[in-house]
Amino acid sequence: MKLYSVNAGHFKLDGGAMFGVVPKSIWNRLNPADENNMCSWAMRCLLIEDGNRLILVDNGMGDKQEAKFFSYYYLHGNDSLESSLKKYGFGPDDITDVVLTHLHFDHCGGSIKYNADRSKLQPAFKNATYHSNRKHWDWAMNPNSREKASFLKENIVPIEESGQLKFIDAGKPFSENISFIEVNGHTEAMMLPVVKYKGHTLAYMADLVPSVGHLPIPYVMGYDMRPLETLKEKDQILRKALDENWLLMFEHDPKTECVNLERTEKGIRSKDILRIEEL
Ligand SMILES: [Zn+2]
Repeated sequence: MKLYSVNAGHFKLDGGAMFGVVPKSIWNRLNPADENNMCSWAMRCLLIEDGNRLILVDNGMGDKQEAKFFSYYYLHGNDSLESSLKKYGFGPDDITDVVLTHLHFDHCGGSIKYNADRSKLQPAFKNATYHSNRKHWDWAMNPNSREKASFLKENIVPIEESGQLKFIDAGKPFSENISFIEVNGHTEAMMLPVVKYKGHTLAYMADLVPSVGHLPIPYVMGYDMRPLETLKEKDQILRKALDENWLLMFEHDPKTECVNLERTEKGIRSKDILRIEEL
């Protein structure tokens, strides 16, 4: 088995929305904002080469919407999903499985793309099975008005129409070395992959702990549907991660891919900054 960190690009989101009740005087030290209060975030996917399977966890926001849509998100830097895959010698057609932690556009938008003459939406990974779960899928297809702007039909419906969608039970192992933790604070039934790798246990934190700056328990995104649930889930998972010496991988941290943990007088915090390719 081999793991790769695959950055699908950097974008910007409002710092206040990303840190919830935390005041700017504090979060601005963790991720400094630009003149519009926007902070830079990564869309860092996890690529797992496991025997003859090549499993991509999340895939960024893709490129199929109009310029006006992307103008809200200030994409910047040189990384893209395709260029990052290519760096490791892979292309979209090599992907056998796409695991979607959840269907917010910045996690699943790369799943579906336009064909050459932009007349039809089609899977960006033609040889892949796309994995989600029934509870989250139904939630995303019938969104509440607060979450609606994150669940874009053009990212979701064509996956089902392609016939490449498979619903999995997050409570069951995905493969010998990959399982999931289901969490319900950020959105309904988000799946966090947990991978056994070279003697380590690596947990991909998706939007439960989007960056290293979100490790303190009350640092919960304003976007979360059930923030009190997120508090409990973070507390439980971070304790287990510390006890069992897990590594955490951050999807949105602009710089830090991965850390191990230590207990400090303030709570559980990062200890060493690590890189997936150096594990
Ligand atoms: Zn999300």
